Amino acid sequence: MHMNVKTAKYSGYCFGVKRALKLAEEILKKNQGKKTEIFTLGPIIHNSGVTNKLAKKGLISVENLEKIIPGSILIIRSHGMSPVLVNEIKKKNIKIIDATCPFVKKAQVRAEDLSKNGYFVVIVGNRNHPEVIGIKDHVLNKNYAVIKNEANAEKISSKKKIGVVVQTTQPIEKLCLITSKLREKAKELVVFNTICNTTKKRQNSTKKLANNVDIMIVVGGKKSANTKHLVEISKKCGAVTYHIENYKEIKPQWFNNAKKVGISGGASTPVEDIIDIKEAIEKL
Ligand code: SF4
Repeated sequence: MHMNVKTAKYSGYCFGVKRALKLAEEILKKNQGKKTEIFTLGPIIHNSGVTNKLAKKGLISVENLEKIIPGSILIIRSHGMSPVLVNEIKKKNIKIIDATCPFVKKAQVRAEDLSKNGYFVVIVGNRNHPEVIGIKDHVLNKNYAVIKNEANAEKISSKKKIGVVVQTTQPIEKLCLITSKLREKAKELVVFNTICNTTKKRQNSTKKLANNVDIMIVVGGKKSANTKHLVEISKKCGAVTYHIENYKEIKPQWFNNAKKVGISGGASTPVEDIIDIKEAIEKL
């Protein structure tokens, strides 16, 4: 098949993920051959290829705090962590290495400041995502709501002051729709657009590419929130879109009659995976 295969201008590891992985590699190297165990609470990124490689070097991913033993090291992931958990960890004689992305930290600080200043804090995002859990626990007195769409915004009762922060990976369009609804709910509305630039760049370049191709391949972990948003964006543009983690998932029949193919990668996708996929499609 002869196809024109293009990769989105902004694809693959974002600044926060690169930083967290670099820190993890450094800590693992420094402790090589020592007895100190090194943990993350949940996988360091949502990409099984990468987490498997790090596991071989000694990084242990656990799902709950009880499994982290005193005297060990815990790396806080780029998503950040709830301050409630951080305090519990500190009490257990566990050394913390904080790899929270500075953009996530900014959202946490904004949420805390808004609540200190008497605002009801609205967090736009997915309530089960670790980043959002970390942000909401920075709000004082539980004076917050986590919402994901306009219908949720509609349900918020009228308040004197509402302050908005956003999960860093949310689409800007969603924030705009929600804030226009919230305008009717408060005398004073403050919005901090805490969506990170990296996310915006990936979303815009995916949109641009998806508008000009027949098929879009979005590469990244199936649990990666930012990758799933790229899939949503691509589908909205009308491109037939497939979400895969690696080249082995490619099915030749997807490309029957396709002339132009676009590839875009989430913020936790290694560039090598994107290159492998491009080469595999070009060989079809
Ligand atoms: S997507 Fe943005 S906020 Fe999230 S880790 Fe990457 S750079 Fe940081």
